[in-house]
Amino acid sequence: MRLQGRYYDTKQTTDTITMTYEQPQLPYDNDALEPAISRRTVEFHYGKHEKAYIDNLNKLIKGTEFEDMELEEIIAHAQGPLFNNASQAWNHIFYFFSFSPDGRREPQGDLRKAIDREFGSFEKFKEAFVDAGVGLFGSGWVWLSRDENGKLFITQGPNAANPITAGLTPLLTFDVWEHAYYLDYQNRRADALKQLWDIVDWAVVESRY
Ligand code: MN
Repeated sequence: MRLQGRYYDTKQTTDTITMTYEQPQLPYDNDALEPAISRRTVEFHYGKHEKAYIDNLNKLIKGTEFEDMELEEIIAHAQGPLFNNASQAWNHIFYFFSFSPDGRREPQGDLRKAIDREFGSFEKFKEAFVDAGVGLFGSGWVWLSRDENGKLFITQGPNAANPITAGLTPLLTFDVWEHAYYLDYQNRRADALKQLWDIVDWAVVESRY
């Protein structure tokens, strides 16, 4: 899945045109996810934190073998600071684009059948997903992914972890870094994660399945 385009930096007037990643505009207003996520958190989390990851990514790939790679390829092959910034750039776009103020709040079709089959019910899936996020010590992400056979997995990973590195296809993620919820929920991570079910757009998640 291609999350964002690259653009030619037209400010460059020489023949050394550089390709950089740009931060996509969110498809909703900054206050559209309230009360689950406040305007202030969107402004800091997407406007500042995510912007910094993309700025760092652009600095780190400049003049390297990674410059012409798709972001998913960079995540699959890079390590250290480049992996961290590339993966965080991708993860946050994936996270914020999973939400919608007027989306569908339950999965349907094949994904619903797979969730019911593998987790018992949608309710049980939601509990297991939040539990995995709450149980992650420190900063990181909780994920719903599928493998090549369509089997579903809930995984958790620290820092900039991304299931792409394990060969899985991500479907949904919740950010459990404190910066994702501290302004709105302080230390109450479980409350913060449970509120996200009110803004997940399952039509988006199904499109990734
Ligand atoms: Mn974050």
